[in-house]
Amino acid sequence: MDVEDLKWLALTEIAVEGRELEYVSAAVAAGRMASGGKFSEACARILSEELQARGVLLTTSCTDALEMAAMLLEIQPGDVVVVPSFTFVSTALAFVRAGASVRFADIERDTLGLDPNSVEALLDDRVRAVIPIHYAGIPCRIRELVRLLNNVPRAELIEDNAHGLFGRLEGQPLGSFGRLSTLSFHETKNFVCGEGGALVMNHTDDLERAQVILDKGTNRSQFFQGLVDKYTWVDSGSSFGLSDALAGFLLGQLEAKERILASRARVHSYYRTLLDGAAEAYTMRLPPSEELGSSAFHMFYLLMPSMRVRDHVLNRLREARIRAAFHYVPLHSSPFGRSLGAHGDSCPVATDISERLLRLPFHSRLTEEQCQRVADEVIQAVEECQ
Ligand SMILES: *Cc1c(COP(=O)(O)O)cnc(C)c1O
Repeated sequence: MDVEDLKWLALTEIAVEGRELEYVSAAVAAGRMASGGKFSEACARILSEELQARGVLLTTSCTDALEMAAMLLEIQPGDVVVVPSFTFVSTALAFVRAGASVRFADIERDTLGLDPNSVEALLDDRVRAVIPIHYAGIPCRIRELVRLLNNVPRAELIEDNAHGLFGRLEGQPLGSFGRLSTLSFHETKNFVCGEGGALVMNHTDDLERAQVILDKGTNRSQFFQGLVDKYTWVDSGSSFGLSDALAGFLLGQLEAKERILASRARVHSYYRTLLDGAAEAYTMRLPPSEELGSSAFHMFYLLMPSMRVRDHVLNRLREARIRAAFHYVPLHSSPFGRSLGAHGDSCPVATDISERLLRLPFHSRLTEEQCQRVADEVIQAVEECQ
């Protein structure tokens, strides 16, 4: 057989789970593709209810929702934000664009989320926001962060919840702990519409101003509700609203929530069962299982014993046409992070984890046979390193 014919196993994959295409067609047929339409409203209603939020606005991306958060907080030069070094660029970028200085905090080894001790050492009265993520959908130590911030009057908790939609901590939805939280519907996430996001608001005070910021600084929304008699420029803002055609796609996904979550949980448990024995034998670490009852199942990762082993396994998987990946280049050691004054050795756990972490293909359509193929390759490659 020609190996070129062997299909690659993708790292992530989009699947149509329900009425997505019907809804996109309906938005086009109705000539309503701009933001703020009925599909956006329906998505926002589902998200508000599930996350017990005061309000939800759909945005063009999670990055844009984070920029809206920075605008709502009126972040400006002189302000400081604390972000994990081990995260995607946007967590920091949105606040840097508003002029903030960033302090990179380290992560802790169980959840790979912000380490409250590291955060505590970085807090002072210049800090305006702390922005945790829930890595891989596993809740970070968010209650400890809430407690810490009670002592810093001007600092707000903003959850970058791009991984954690529908995850829970002791029954409380991820994304409901901070003043604001943000979501991503990028094609690599659990619920997708290509490019998209949401700003989730947990304080009623933010609702009106956020709508104005999303509507290019105008009071358009109040005008259409008949609350003001002129439609005009009243504040700063940008064009942050999601197209209603994309919101239609997203609604199809959100309506299939239970099925998508169940599929992802099932794939997670395939991997766990297939790799448990080898993990013990070869000192690989699986994601923590006691937190899994509350996980959003965003990805499946392995912590390999060393960078040498990780890179060998990564190469072997590539040869076997399996897309695996490392994650992330820590922001404190990235070229731009360093240009902002970060030191290469300031977050040792983030550095260590990023050298050893291996992400396996993970999406709702993976079969047990495909997981078996991945696990067999991983185990064989690790054995070669002994
Ligand atoms: C994907 C991701 C983002 C960016 O999401 P976009 O919707 O592409 O802007 C931000 N933060 C984290 C943690 C992410 O994983």
